Amino acid sequence: MEWEKNRRRMVEFQLRECGIRDERVLEAMFRTPRHRFVQEALGARAYNDSPLPIGEGQTISQPSLVARMTEALELAGCEKVLEVGTGSGYQTAILAGLARRVYSVERIPSLAWKARTILESFRHYNVSIKVQDGTLGWPENSPYDAILVTAGAPEIPAELIDQLEENGRLVIPMGCEEKQTLFRLTKKRGRVEKEELGPCRFVKLIGAKGWPE
Ligand code: SAH
Repeated sequence: MEWEKNRRRMVEFQLRECGIRDERVLEAMFRTPRHRFVQEALGARAYNDSPLPIGEGQTISQPSLVARMTEALELAGCEKVLEVGTGSGYQTAILAGLARRVYSVERIPSLAWKARTILESFRHYNVSIKVQDGTLGWPENSPYDAILVTAGAPEIPAELIDQLEENGRLVIPMGCEEKQTLFRLTKKRGRVEKEELGPCRFVKLIGAKGWPE
């Protein structure tokens, strides 16, 4: 009950305040228990608008950023989505509630394993998680209606654009190691439209088309 109250407060006072308008996204953020995706000792801070450590030097993004990225994907419920950077699986759970099918890739095996376990416990059966370098996407299941990258890239991997469906959206933070800009790329008749969605800060996207290890 206390958790629910905290989540309601997060939705009303943080997410709406910072301009999130998509009611489906707000509902998914209310339904998803973020405290279950962090260590128990950090649970009390789960509904503050801040990133938290999830082990292996990685972090779960702050709720307002998760909401902003999800909103930018414009999901109606029928989409096939690729997520790069499963991490804790929190963002994956949000996507699973808003899209038809979610494919998520993570490069650190222990994080992928933990995320898979927790998502199964929430009965998100429309999610597949694989350990691999997500800068190359997951070509076997492409094309995707939406692709979300949750780690900061030095440049936009061409493989991800190739794996986008016509009218598909790619949301990706890109910039230097310390700070990035969130971009949305939309594929339209073979061309790519690029919009800036504002500043952000993520851990590094490491891989063949990302930062070196
Ligand atoms: N969306 C996550 C945030 C994870 S932080 C959450 O809600 O918890 C970013 C994650 O991207 C880290 O777990 C990191 O290991 C992963 N990552 C970095 N480079 C990657 C790559 N090339 N392929 C797949 N995952 C990657």
